[in-house]
Formats: sequence, C-alpha cells, structure tokens
Amino acid sequence: MNSTKRTLIVGNWKMHLNVQAASLLVHRLDMHIKPHRSIEVVLAPSLLALQPVSMEIDRRKFRLASQDAYPKDEGAFTGEVSFTMLSGLVHYSIIGHSERRIYFNESLELIRDKVQAAVRNNIAPILCVGETKQERAAGETKRVIHDQVTTALANLTPDEVANVVIAYEPVWAISTFGGEVARPGDIKKVIDLIRHHVSELYGVKTASAMRVLYGGSVNPDTATAYLEIDGCDGALIGGASLNYKQFSAIVDAAYRYTHRDT
Ligand code: PEP
Repeated sequence: MNSTKRTLIVGNWKMHLNVQAASLLVHRLDMHIKPHRSIEVVLAPSLLALQPVSMEIDRRKFRLASQDAYPKDEGAFTGEVSFTMLSGLVHYSIIGHSERRIYFNESLELIRDKVQAAVRNNIAPILCVGETKQERAAGETKRVIHDQVTTALANLTPDEVANVVIAYEPVWAISTFGGEVARPGDIKKVIDLIRHHVSELYGVKTASAMRVLYGGSVNPDTATAYLEIDGCDGALIGGASLNYKQFSAIVDAAYRYTHRDT
C-alpha cells in the first residue's frame, strides 16, 4: 500500500435498511469508529436514506457515496436521480457494480457515460470491475478487465482518471454471487493489470496516484490479508458493512495495518 494515499474503506449497503435502520447503523458506527487521518470511511446507503444520513454523520469520520445515478444531468427520465442532483451531497458514486451489470444489463458504454457524468459533477467514481466465474474459467479475465477499464475511463483526462477509484471485485467472490474466497496473490495480479492499462493510456503518474480497492466477501478476519496486497488501497465491503461490529472491525484492521510501523 502506498502510504501517501488514504486507505479507503467503503460500505455498500445495497437495497437494505430503511431510513430509520440506516440512522441506527450510523449511530452505532459513530460510537465505534474514530476519525483517522490515514483512513477514509465511506458509506453508501440507499438513495432514500442519503439525505437524512448526510445530516447525521460526523464529517470528520464519514463520507457518503451513492450506489448509482443516471448519466443525464436533468430531463424527462421518470424515476431517475442524476449525478447533478447528488453533487454536494456525496463525494463518491459507485458505478458499474456487478449487480447493476448483471441484473440491470448495464453496458460498457452506459457505465462510461455514468463515469463521465460523475466526473462532470465533481463526484469521484468508484468504478467496479471484475470477471464472472464463467469468464474466469474460460481464461477471459484479462480481456474483461481491459474492456471494462478502458471503456469506462475513455474521454477522461489523466488528472480526472487519477481521482477515479477502481474496485476490483471478481464476481465469483462477491457474497451474493457465491462468495468464493479469493487468494490475495490472484488479486494482486489483476490490480497490477488494472494499473498497467491505466499507465499505458494515461501515464505512470496517473496509474500510481489512482486508488485501487479489493471487494468480495471481505470480513474482519480476511481484511488485513487483502489490505496487505501491494498496490491495494482499501476495500469495498458489502454484507459486512451492514453489521456495525464487523464494519468497525474492518476499519480497525485498516488502521492497524496503516500504522504497523509506528
Ligand atoms: C459488493 O457487493 O460490492 C461486495 C463486495 O459484497 P460482499 O462484501 O458482500 O461480497
């Protein structure tokens, strides 16, 4: 891990927790998590809970992310919320999560448009990439990662790309899609591959400035092994982020790891 970058721990609450339950979880997390200069903790509640949660969080401890948004800034798009509307409310937006790619058939091009819209509205994308179990078995991981990374970042400047976070989330390791345990050595190869593609297109400086996370069934027992991967700047947490004890234990593990030499 590069010590000049803040370690990023993101909790994706998915379509869980109504406004009251979200508020209760924030309250519990607040009691268990201290502000850490070396760690950035980001919560991604449902769209409905974003506004109330934004009024409850201690901003020295937590930042917010949306789980998605629509790529047009405004217009007749019934049911949608734009990045423009979220601007000022969230620092980050999760884009291209495998549940959106798979359940909602989000294409590479739609995800590219969302990344661009987020950047245009001063929201840092947390771009999720990762191969399915079938793609992995067919030896297609490299191609899938190449296509997902290069398409999503097309049309951005190197400075804009440096501010994008990429979360490598092998679909087969995500709890909702099987939750197989991924080996840190295998994760490192893909993280290196992601930085390689970014450095070829946007330069080495951009590739090393950009944060790359791991996501897939991370829990308090496994977090350190993933955070130890050279080039891994944090973790995207699904299931364990709904449990305040587990999520705060992961933040503690990140804190201990970043302060291991002090
Ligand atoms: C996710 O859905 O992004 C994720 C990492 O989920 P889980 O931690 O539950 O595998």
